[in-house]
Amino acid sequence: MTPIILRAVLLGACATLAVPAALAQCAGVAAGQTEQNAAAELVSLVGRGETRPSGDAAWERAVQAQKLKGGADMRTLALSSAALLLADRTQIRMSANAQLRLCDTQPERSLLELIAGRLWARTKRSPANLQLQTPAALAVVRGTDWDVEVEGSGRTGSKIESGMIAAPPAAISTTIVSPSARITPSSDALKIPGSAEGTTTFRDLFFGEDFGQGIRAGHELKMFIPGGGSAPWFYPEQLDMPLEGKVVGGAGSMLGSGAVVAMDETTDAVAACLRLVRFFARESCGKCTPCREGTTWLERVLRRIIDGYGRPEDLGLLASVGDNISPGPYPNAAWEAEGLEAVPFPPRQTTICPLGPSAVAPITSALRRFRPEFEAYIAAAENNRPRLTVTADPPPADRVDGASAAGGAHV
Ligand code: SF4
Repeated sequence: MTPIILRAVLLGACATLAVPAALAQCAGVAAGQTEQNAAAELVSLVGRGETRPSGDAAWERAVQAQKLKGGADMRTLALSSAALLLADRTQIRMSANAQLRLCDTQPERSLLELIAGRLWARTKRSPANLQLQTPAALAVVRGTDWDVEVEGSGRTGSKIESGMIAAPPAAISTTIVSPSARITPSSDALKIPGSAEGTTTFRDLFFGEDFGQGIRAGHELKMFIPGGGSAPWFYPEQLDMPLEGKVVGGAGSMLGSGAVVAMDETTDAVAACLRLVRFFARESCGKCTPCREGTTWLERVLRRIIDGYGRPEDLGLLASVGDNISPGPYPNAAWEAEGLEAVPFPPRQTTICPLGPSAVAPITSALRRFRPEFEAYIAAAENNRPRLTVTADPPPADRVDGASAAGGAHV
């Protein structure tokens, strides 16, 4: 069988092509993995599960805390579920009537075969490298949790929380859970499990044929948010950066939720900033003053700038309120043209949780890079502001009383 590749790019993901030799080993114990090494531990078992050391051995009743060796099969029976902890710390949960083969689990990578049923996987290592083969697809996952189900017909179904999948639609049925997740039909996904290893960059993500396929016609990338609304913004200079947490963190942002947002030159940086800050102001639980008051102030000041009532001192006020929530230099990307260096993530905080400092990310990102857009709003407000002219005409003569007149004063 020629396996079809499902290449899943999830939270902070980097795509890696599968190694054919690993697939061939899926029927037995992987090379380099001795019988003595535990490939996985059965950390939880509800109901009844069974294991066997290899595909041709008899099934035996599984017990909790049992160590499973490479090449072993594990299955759950009706109304049962199990959890496995793999050698690379990946957590696998099997629902009822699922059957899984531990083809190869090393500290560096795991190769599994889901023969039937449904499993949910959460990779704990970073970067994780989990390869999952099903009768219809081979998934290469680096990142967050997702679940996969092999249906009765052998067809593979997957539910992804975020990110994207490039796969031929016939190979897999996919449920898109969040707006940031999507599926990209691609014949390229039909490539034989490869012999190459590569790292996905933001440029690949936005412009690659398998992924974003470029900015909409006639427009250019202005800025992008690499990891959700809490992440400081990146700009075209950071396009060639790999989607690797440490690299992105050192460069002044984070991969965070993996919800990457690209904005073209038609995006109003001030309006984008308000949209993000407004979210954090609404989300603030109000427990700490810098967050409760600060996010509200940030939203109100931005609102008034956009509504045409901004004042020149508002820019300093935004920075000052932000500094009360997150003191010191806030993480940001390098800006070579201006001689500015990156400030690595994470930010400092005067608050209990990171929500407060998250509201400062769009403020500092937009103010630093797109300050002229703020100033343009404020200049327009200055020019359009209605002015009240007060004149000091002399008082009428009949309103001058004697005493005052004597003293030279007007009433
Ligand atoms: S920083 Fe966190 S704990 Fe503090 S008010 Fe904001 S949301 Fe609540």
